[in-house]
Amino acid sequence: MGAMELQPAGPGHPCKRMRLGGRQNNMPEEFCMASTKSGKPCSRRKDETCALPFCQAHREGGDGAFRIVPHPRAGHVLVANFDIPRGYKTVFWGTRKTWKATEGKEGEDYAMCFRSNGGVIDPTTHKRGSQMQFMSNPGPNERQNMRSTNEFYGKTYEDGLVGREFVVMHDVKKNHQLLIWYGYSWFDARGIDRIDVGTKRYPATLRETKDDKDTKKAKKKSPVAKDAKPPLRDATNEREKMNAAA
Ligand SMILES: [Zn+2]
Repeated sequence: MGAMELQPAGPGHPCKRMRLGGRQNNMPEEFCMASTKSGKPCSRRKDETCALPFCQAHREGGDGAFRIVPHPRAGHVLVANFDIPRGYKTVFWGTRKTWKATEGKEGEDYAMCFRSNGGVIDPTTHKRGSQMQFMSNPGPNERQNMRSTNEFYGKTYEDGLVGREFVVMHDVKKNHQLLIWYGYSWFDARGIDRIDVGTKRYPATLRETKDDKDTKKAKKKSPVAKDAKPPLRDATNEREKMNAAA
């Protein structure tokens, strides 16, 4: 049986700066930040020919911490191969394009804002390795467990592959889905109803009920933690589109 959770690298690992108790490389400019299929930090250097913080194998095949699986209603979804701790980092990546170049094409629904004036990241050019495009949106009883950050890989006018850093917001159990909030406007624009996406085999992180929150509050003696910001919603796409249309 394989490991249940991501493992620390152990002695002799070439990357000397680690995070998450040795479970992830913390030198993205030098080492691959992915995990192997056995749940250990990759020991290879990043591919120098590309701006992404992955070795060639993990860029092409995806991070071993995740896998893409078929879903009865949502096409394909992304699930955890191991228990993944909060704080684990990965990258939403693809080919850098202009907004215009994705209009009316497949990439339009998946493209994400790159740097300011840098256009968008179109992940649909790499369906196998660029795993984050398969994240679902949490339904009414579910909540997101991934968020984007403002760390980018690649220059504003990079010719080729670029990425945006994503981070796991809550511990995600093995086989649970990775979920990102698309925003209400995504659904409104397409006339699609939001539904719960969790299944028995691939559960989703559930929303906290009022009782859960009260229990937590009662347990917590200290005031609200400094980092308790509301989840980031990536509104930049909409803004860029509006700017582009103006
Ligand atoms: Zn690697």
